[in-house]
Formats: sequence, structure tokens, C-alpha cells
Amino acid sequence: MSATLPRKLFVTAALPYANAPFHIGHIMEYIQADIWVRFQRMQGHEVDFVCADDAHGTPIMIAAEKAGVTPQEFVARIAAGRKQHLDGFHISFDNWHSTDSPENTELSQAIYRRLRDDAKLITTKTVERFYDPVKGMFLADRNIKGECPKCGAKDQYGDNCEVCGAAYEPTELKNPYSALTGATPVMKPVEQYFFKLSDPRCVAFLQDWLNTPGRLQPEMVNKVSEWLGNDGKDLADWDISREAPYFGIPIPDAPGKYFYVWLDAPVGYLASLKNYCSKKGIDYEALLNDPATEQIHFIGKDIVSFHLLFWPAMLKFSGHPVIDKLKVYVHGHLTVSGEKMSKSRGTGISPLRYLEIGMNPEWLRYYIASKLNAKVEDLDFNPEDFVARVNSDLIGKYINIASRAAGFITKRFDGKVVTDWATASDTFISNLRNVAPEIHAMYDHREFGKALRAVMEQADHINAYVDANKPWELAKNPGKDAALQEVCSRLLEAFRVLTIYLKPVLPELARQVEALLNIEPLLWSQVGTPLPHGHKVNPYTHLMTRVDAKMLDALFDAPIDATATPPSQPSPSQGEGADGGTIEELAPEIKIDDFTRIDLRIAKIVNCEQVDGSDKLLRLTLDVGEGRMRNVFSGIKSAYQPEELIGKLTVMVANLAPRKMKFGVSEGMVLAASASDERAKPGIYILNPWPGAEPGMRIR
Ligand SMILES: [Zn+2]
Repeated sequence: MSATLPRKLFVTAALPYANAPFHIGHIMEYIQADIWVRFQRMQGHEVDFVCADDAHGTPIMIAAEKAGVTPQEFVARIAAGRKQHLDGFHISFDNWHSTDSPENTELSQAIYRRLRDDAKLITTKTVERFYDPVKGMFLADRNIKGECPKCGAKDQYGDNCEVCGAAYEPTELKNPYSALTGATPVMKPVEQYFFKLSDPRCVAFLQDWLNTPGRLQPEMVNKVSEWLGNDGKDLADWDISREAPYFGIPIPDAPGKYFYVWLDAPVGYLASLKNYCSKKGIDYEALLNDPATEQIHFIGKDIVSFHLLFWPAMLKFSGHPVIDKLKVYVHGHLTVSGEKMSKSRGTGISPLRYLEIGMNPEWLRYYIASKLNAKVEDLDFNPEDFVARVNSDLIGKYINIASRAAGFITKRFDGKVVTDWATASDTFISNLRNVAPEIHAMYDHREFGKALRAVMEQADHINAYVDANKPWELAKNPGKDAALQEVCSRLLEAFRVLTIYLKPVLPELARQVEALLNIEPLLWSQVGTPLPHGHKVNPYTHLMTRVDAKMLDALFDAPIDATATPPSQPSPSQGEGADGGTIEELAPEIKIDDFTRIDLRIAKIVNCEQVDGSDKLLRLTLDVGEGRMRNVFSGIKSAYQPEELIGKLTVMVANLAPRKMKFGVSEGMVLAASASDERAKPGIYILNPWPGAEPGMRIR
């Protein structure tokens, strides 16, 4: 805790792709970065904490076209929803910007020019890529569909199969077609621009970067070594160009070419900083050239290759001044009850829903912090554990200290505390103060879970003091007034110190405590500065409620005992039926017994919603009159909005064996009609019974 110079920290979190609202993974990362940032600010360090929407690329261009708006309008709509989440979870970014901005265009092009002209690290090659002859554009992997080369499932994307999970190249798809027009794509040569990552200078730099002690997390050292292979021989050059039409930043002196989104996305960190500097009247160049400036990126493990290979190499060879003080802090993913999150299993967490049902954002901040460390490990959200940690630690151990002491101080002593006992030789307070450097180091090294355990250990000692001194007993004896005032004052002072230790995690609660104690915003340096003797605190008001376990049921949807159907995608079995009104060939003849084995029921669509990560499926909650709900996926997203189906009746196969799919287990299937060749005759039509039919009625 010696007097050190203030650090200058330029901190970012990963830029979210602007095609959807935040998911819980973004919020988890922002909470991690925000705790670290708030901790540093409490030390008096200078922090610029910025982020931005990652706005460019084909997926957004296509989504905007579908929505009938410009990409700029599309991105603006998404951006408009950001503040609600960020404020809701107390994420304290200093600036939120966009990669579709003048700053980003200028910086990306300038970096590119330096890489091309000064470092001579840009090259071109002619490669073959899938081209849609109808749309007149090269296709991204996600715009090519076809049959999975592994399991044969139809309508799978060019990069991986939603049914069996296989990953492959678009060229491996059987019967590929353009998802944009249905046309059969052709291979077409195109000149692409590359960043020469395989250049010996890049390899030497990356090896040095890798071997600088303390630069990367140990797991990441291993990962980057793997990529570098033997003397960097495994490194491939990085394709950085895309063809018009494209929503992105034009490549200078290359008409019709745009930067691939991963080139300009990380530059967005700098663009947001520059935008912030201009708003605040800070000299951006001077800030970056200040030898004290450190640059820190918080990211998830899914984007490490961009941040640990390309980004440092781009910065290094374009002459970025902060390169020697660049750090990338990688975290794992969020799982729920030990499994990858899945809406179909009822384990998806919507951050907006969390806020809407009135759950306290600081419960989540505390819970996430209690499980975070400096490793690249997945973090598990377990509902029972969540309730236990919040209720028994946060409320039971910490909040209770104030609730047991503050009332007596207000009612009996006019709000006045005594602190003449708080000398360095007083072990009650010195023990609590002495852990400050240890907790400081834990926060600084992102060992938040350890820090909170250390704080709760102190809270245990304080609670043992409460039990030993029983203020409620002292209060019954008028002769013990002085003792009561001292015991309660000690408890409030302990509570003040614990609040300093918890403030990076619980900023809003700390603000309430500051109001209660009638003091200025707490700084870390005030651990050893007790409230003045005779200081008057404000009357105690309730600080935080306990978690009601019922809220977690609401958070996760109703527990799903039934499950989901396979993508009840009307799968055309055979035939080239599209031309001349020909229909799909009839299936072989069956007997009535064959038919009665299939149990068809009227089902009420009680709820219907989008499936995260699926372009095709909707998730239906069906009532078949069994006194429980069934959860069913159906491949009808292209034809229906969820809202138009809710409350409607339809027909389902009720005795289909449950089937495990990527998004969960499937139990049942809704029926829908479609042409045998969806490309020639698009349209999917679910069935709807005549009025009078009721859920559970059998169809015979
Ligand atoms: Zn497959």
C-alpha cells in the first residue's frame, strides 16, 4: 500500500456483434471488467473504460435487408437497447461507440496503410470462393446452406450442422444453395488481401510476446504456442478482405474491397477511446504515447486467436505505442448447472428478464464475482448455489451486521458513533484493516472469488463478536449504555471497512451505505480512517432483500418436464416435384393399425419464442391437456412470428419418442405442410383445427 504513481489504464470489454441484444455471456464479461475497473478507480488510478458495437459484416447487412432497413438503421435499433442493460447491471463504461464510425474508418485505414507501406506486410492472392450468381455476391459461410456431409440433415449452414453438431467447410456441403436466393452457388476466383502473419518478423514478435513472463495467462501461452507451431511454420496468412456488396470499411486503393469485419472490430477499441477523448477534450495521441498508459482487453475464450495473434501483430507493425503494455485477460464461458446454457432445457438466462422480474443486479454481480478467478475456466451458474451465496453470505453475514447495530445508534444515541477505541493497537479493528493489502492483490489479479472469501471470513469474525457481545441484551440494561454504544459503533466501523472491500462488486449498495453512514464516496485508502468520534449517521433503512427462490423459477421459465421435438421441419422425402404442379411422391401404403400407432392430439400453443442461435427453430410450449406443459421445437421460424402463434390450437404427434437435439431433448412434433422443394415453392403452414376442438382431443 505504498504510495505508487497513479496508473493510466485503457480498459475494454469485447465488442458485441450488433445483430442482437446482449446475452448473459456479455453481461458476465462486463461485470468482470467493471469490478476490476471500479477497484482501480478506488485506488485513485486513471481509467478509461470503453466499448462499442461491432457493426459491420455480412450477417448484419443481410439481417437489415430482411428487416427492410439500412444496416445503419438496423445497428442503431440494437444500440438503442444497450443502455438499459448496462445501467441495469451497473456497468460503468465511460463511452459506448460503434465500429461504424468516422473514427474507426480513419484508424482502420491508417493502420492498414502502415502495415502495407511501412511494414510491407500486406499481400494479395487469388482464391476460389462460393458466389451467388443471382444475387451477384460472394457468400459468407452462413449464407450457404445444404445437406450436412456427416448426417445428411437438410438446410444446414456452410460452417456447421445444427442437428449433429459437425463442423466443416462450405465446399463439403451436399447440394449447396445460396440461403439468400436459393441459387446454386458457383466457385469463382477472387483477389483477396492478406496480412502476412507468417512473415518471420511476425513470428519472432509473437514468440517474444508469448515468452514475456506475466504477459499471458498460462493456458493462453500453451494455446498460442500451439498455433505458432514449430518456428511459426503453422501460421497462415490472414484473409482481411471481402467483396462488395458488404457493410464495412473500404480498403484504401482497392475499389470494391472492404475490410473483413475482424480487421476493423478490434480497432473499434481505439475508435471508442478516440471518440471519448474528443468528447472530454483529452489528447488521444498524447494519452497513447504516455509511457504510463496500459492497454487491457477483457475477452472470452472464443475470440483468443484474433486477440492473441492478429491484433498484437497488427498493433506492433503499425507502430502502436502501447504494445509493450498490452494485456489480454481471457475468461471462460458461463454454464448453467454444469451444462452449456440451453433455452430448451430451460437453462437459458435472459439478462433483460432478470431485470424485468425485479431481481437485484447486485446479487448477480456478487454471485459472478464469487466464482471468478484469473484462469480461463468456465463459470457455472447454479440456482441453489446462487440463492445460498446471496442469502447466507451477502445478507446473512454482511448486511446483518448493519441491521443489528444501526437501529440502536439511531434510537438510543441520536445517531452518534464513538470511535475513540479505534487505535492501531485495537485488535478488533487492526485485524480487519490488516487484510487490506491481501484483498487488494486479489482484486488486482482478478482473483475475485478469493477476495470475497477473504471478506466473508472477516465478516464471520465480526458476527462472532456480535454473538459474544449481544447488543440486544445490553440494550435491556440501562446501565450498559456506554457498552451498547461502543459495541454498535464497532460494528458500524467494521461494516464500513467491509463495504470498502465489497464496493467494486456492489457499487449501488456501497452508495446506500455511504448515505447511511453520512459520508463521502469511500476510497480504498480510507480503510484505516474510521468515522470521526461523535459522527452522526442516518437512520437505518433496509439495504437489500433476500433472494426468493421462486424468482429463479421465473428466471428460467417453468421447469420443463416434457421437452422438445426435432426441428419438426417439414422434411420433403423425395421427388423433384417443383415443376408443373407435380406433388411429392406418396409414401408406401399402410394399414389402419399403422396409422393408429401414431397418436395425434390437439395442442394449445401456450407460449412461443425464438431459439438463441437458431435461424430456423421456434420453441413452443404446448398444452395437450395432460396437466403439464410440453416443450417443442419446430422449424417454422421462417413462416411465423412467435406472437402470432401464442394462444392458437394446432396438431401434434404426441407419442413420438423423445429425441435429443442440439438445443435440447425433443418430445413431440407439430405438424406442418410444405412443398417438397422449399426453394422452388417456399412456405410452411402449420395446421389449425376448426373451432370447438380442445387441447388433448385425439385425431383419428
Ligand atoms: Zn449433421
